[in-house]
Amino acid sequence: MQMTAKMSDMNNNKLLILDDDALIARTIGVIGESAGFDTRTTTVADEFFKLADEWDPSHIVLDLVMPDMDGVEVLVELARRECGARILISSGVGSRVLDAARRSAVEHGLNISGVLSKPFSPGELRELLTEDRSETVDIEPDPHPDPARHRYEITPEELEKGLDRKQLELAYQPKVNCTDSGLAGFEALVRWRCPERGLVPPNLFIPVAESSGLIGRLTRQVISQSIDWFAAELRNSAALRANPWHASLLGKLTLSINLSARSLDDRGFIEFVHQCCRQARIDPANLVFELTETSAMEDPVGSLDLLTRLRMKGFQLSIDDFGTGYSSMLQLVRLPFSEVKVDKSFVMSAPRSEESRAVIRSIVELGHSLGLRATAEGVEDLNTMEYLKEIGCDLAQGYLISRPLPGDQALEWAQRYLTSWR
Ligand code: C2E
Ligand code: CA
Ligand code: CA
Repeated sequence: MQMTAKMSDMNNNKLLILDDDALIARTIGVIGESAGFDTRTTTVADEFFKLADEWDPSHIVLDLVMPDMDGVEVLVELARRECGARILISSGVGSRVLDAARRSAVEHGLNISGVLSKPFSPGELRELLTEDRSETVDIEPDPHPDPARHRYEITPEELEKGLDRKQLELAYQPKVNCTDSGLAGFEALVRWRCPERGLVPPNLFIPVAESSGLIGRLTRQVISQSIDWFAAELRNSAALRANPWHASLLGKLTLSINLSARSLDDRGFIEFVHQCCRQARIDPANLVFELTETSAMEDPVGSLDLLTRLRMKGFQLSIDDFGTGYSSMLQLVRLPFSEVKVDKSFVMSAPRSEESRAVIRSIVELGHSLGLRATAEGVEDLNTMEYLKEIGCDLAQGYLISRPLPGDQALEWAQRYLTSWR
């Protein structure tokens, strides 16, 4: 955490290089110096880690394939040490391998600023290094900026301040039954109302929270805030309770909350959620925790334990973004999920793609054969909704039904929806 803060103000020009070829390492060093960096080079891992800790570089260039070391392991170790430097990975391996390494490093929470295929020209390296230093740009007050286009950095300190000041806001997106379109529940989606940056979408700050150890606090805030809304505002809504039919439905509604794998490290987690439910008089069966399959895989044994305990307490578990990971089936069978959520990429492309429709149908069937409920997210058009009904998908969520809405608007939406529905 501290490292990133230091980096952004004073250490913005220290470059550390690890390459088993001393000549290449020195050459990179010379290029770095010409780009205004103070550089250190090394050919051995031990010295590299020592420098990474003590010298605290702002930038690292790392060779991925070295005869005596495994570059991927070096990355994992850097992640373990919570290295905040911007890392350029270089290698002579093919671009697909480099790209896979980059993705894995990003998933480990590292700040990967680029990949360089060897042989690279001095110009290419210089460009990557200098482009990187001028990277602090303002966020626009756009709720869904493209993170690849707006390259700016959220520091853990900033986010921590946001958590202290309770700047998280939740949006709620409804889920409906495919068969009769009845309201089934809401998913809580977090946003950060940052005074300097505007409304920041979750894909820009959840990774920061995960890599800086703030995710536990963040998740707890999301849980207590969303349960408050769900119990005090939605289920207690006088307008909804006035109609006996609607009132009878309120007890069945579910609240879905996203969990990141790192939140599973939080030891008192189960007790915390249980306590929140007790206080709000909510049955754990009304809560659904959504996990992405990759996140459930990071610590397979630990997550299995925790997820099993959650299920034993009566909470529901959903495997999110299903179909996008590399070991979907395995996770689905191994972990005690009660719901499978078809990734929106398939659902959104369903109108145009027969393949996507086939994928959706097989996921729904697979889920059912394992006794799970199936939800399709990203439903944007009526034809897709009809298709989901036809194949027996249980629940649907998406812009067709409603965009995620702030709490008060979600409540109004529910009143309008239920009134027109029945
Ligand atoms: P997700 O859990 O897959 O959430 C669904 C995302 O798809 C949401 O984006 C939602 O706004 C968007 N979406 C819903 N319906 C449609 C549709 O019909 N079309 C399109 N194009 N998009 C749709 P959002 O809110 O930006 O959230 C992005 C991701 O951030 C979430 O993906 C989830 O992984 C993560 N996230 C959100 N809230 C939390 C949280 O409280 N904790 C954690 N750990 N992660 C969260
Ligand atoms: Ca989700
Ligand atoms: Ca999803």
